[in-house]
Amino acid sequence: MPSVELIDQKILERFQKQVHSGKWATTYLFTGKEVERKKELALAFAKALNCTGKASADCHCSVCRRMTEGTFPDLKWYGSDEEAASIKIAEVRDFRNWLSLKPFEAKVKIFIFNGAERLTAEAQNALLKSIEEPPPGNVIIFFVPHAKSLFDTITSRAMEVKVPAFPEETVKKILIQEGISKVEADFLARASQGELARARQAHKEKWFLEKNKWIDQLVKSPADFLDGFQGQGREAIREVFDFLIEWTRDLLTYCATRDAENLIHMDRAELVEQLASKHDFESILELFESLGQIKKSIDDYANQKLVLTQAGILWEHFLKP
Ligand SMILES: [Zn+2]
Repeated sequence: MPSVELIDQKILERFQKQVHSGKWATTYLFTGKEVERKKELALAFAKALNCTGKASADCHCSVCRRMTEGTFPDLKWYGSDEEAASIKIAEVRDFRNWLSLKPFEAKVKIFIFNGAERLTAEAQNALLKSIEEPPPGNVIIFFVPHAKSLFDTITSRAMEVKVPAFPEETVKKILIQEGISKVEADFLARASQGELARARQAHKEKWFLEKNKWIDQLVKSPADFLDGFQGQGREAIREVFDFLIEWTRDLLTYCATRDAENLIHMDRAELVEQLASKHDFESILELFESLGQIKKSIDDYANQKLVLTQAGILWEHFLKP
């Protein structure tokens, strides 16, 4: 078991009660953004349904052990390639095939679709038949951000379980345990708003170092900094705007509360304080709102060069003493 609590105990207890009473649903929808927590929860549920030991969190029975290792034959994960843009019909065919077969050894076969919002329309239609009348002895779990991420015809047949994000403090602890420095862990936990997978990804991409480079460049010369993103594509430009908005929100937060504890970029509190002290709340708010509007125009396919120039001018103006 991980030393920091990864599993939402309240939800797990609900599952355990369902298992105990023999009344559980066939199809579940795990909603919310925190994927790591969904995985832990689905795994714990699968174990509760099939454990041959005491079904405790640290059970080492052959079923629980193999489920953790990913070698239990009646527990199937789909959509495991999180980089893939879609879950294709081939995976659904595989699922339907396994669904119709008798289990190797499980009491209940478990099927988990990670990132099920990536199921293509064709794949969802193919799923529908299985969801309508699943054979007994199966549990199917879809991980989705929202209940609306799948066709109504699927979600209306599923029981929704809202899986909350981690408290930021928990994400921070986990990251520190994984060897990340305290100051970086603190930033990643705040910036990811308790989404562990996002925080880990950001660490992998060295976002902590990168964002500090960005901040330094922005403050030194906004126009040059933003000019550097010319021709990098819409996704990169969206990313830099998310950064600008997040950073400006920190200035706004500091201006309103005078408390560095509330900042996402707490590691740059000194600079935040310095910038915020030179402006009143209204002028920071104006900058914040203008950036938000320009970002919207990116989504409406505005000219990319223009939006970068606009943001550059706004920031040059803002930083002028
Ligand atoms: Zn067990």
